Amino acid sequence: MQSTDTSNALQERVNQIREKMAAAARQAGRLPADILLCAACKSQSSHLVRLAADSAVDVFGESRMQEMRTHLRDAAFAGKPCHFIGQLQTNKVRQVVGQADLIHSVGSPRLLAAIAAEADRQGITQAVLIQINLGQEASKTGISEESLRTLLEQAAASPGVLVRGLMAIPPPTDSPAQARPYFAQLRELMNRADSWGIENTKLNILSMGMSDSYEAAILEGATLVRIGRQIFGERP
Ligand SMILES: *Cc1c(COP(=O)(O)O)cnc(C)c1O
Repeated sequence: MQSTDTSNALQERVNQIREKMAAAARQAGRLPADILLCAACKSQSSHLVRLAADSAVDVFGESRMQEMRTHLRDAAFAGKPCHFIGQLQTNKVRQVVGQADLIHSVGSPRLLAAIAAEADRQGITQAVLIQINLGQEASKTGISEESLRTLLEQAAASPGVLVRGLMAIPPPTDSPAQARPYFAQLRELMNRADSWGIENTKLNILSMGMSDSYEAAILEGATLVRIGRQIFGERP
């Protein structure tokens, strides 16, 4: 009984998010179908993730390697794609490469090299996004805008990785409207990077926007939004 209630409530929340996503897309003159909803499932049980798999989410986003393994073991995604969106330590690369369909959080030459080496070892190509540190915050992960070209050139020389786009977590703002310039900055950066025509890159994924900011992100061109609390409620 409780599970049915939980499932219905969750599906209803996801449907509401999808409606808001579609409205923002139309406002920006974009197609709602061009934007993916990624459920950020850190701290959530396999049971709840499995319920979310029956809702209108497109992909799952994992922030912690161990939780990703648990959710995969329990078949909680029910066949939907699994992305790795959290900070990835170099020593955990082996457990994530080949398991995650897309790694969003490549923010250093060292991590890119480790992913490429592991993908080579497995004989696969790992799709990745480059994480950009937009606010130049010392505490935040991601590379600076200025370092992007060098990192893409490194990727071009690494057959094990294919760069699919950019990801960012803008600095906290008082309102979603204040985050829009950051989202615009990321979109412009991807357009510029695309015009460089670097090999081994196919830049068309813009991963930006979370529970409090996804509509603003869509207005500025997000193709994938990562939403946790609005789907699952406050984290346990
Ligand atoms: C947790 C998390 C999210 C989702 O955040 P909410 O505020 O719960 O929507 C998005 N992206 C990343 C990288 C996260 O770790």
